[in-house]
Amino acid sequence: MTFVAHLEYIFHITCGDCKFYWTYASMAKSFDIEKKSYHCPNCGAKEKIQLQNEV
Ligand SMILES: [Zn+2]
Repeated sequence: MTFVAHLEYIFHITCGDCKFYWTYASMAKSFDIEKKSYHCPNCGAKEKIQLQNEV
């Protein structure tokens, strides 16, 4: 028997209004987080996400 593992991509998101921080996970390498708008879980602000070029 072997153990199995799956790669997960986790985005670290910070709200531009209230600075609340949360994460969004995807199993797909090609997932484009900038494609749609998201609601801040803390203040409810709806904004697009701008991915920083860190990789
Ligand atoms: Zn917020």
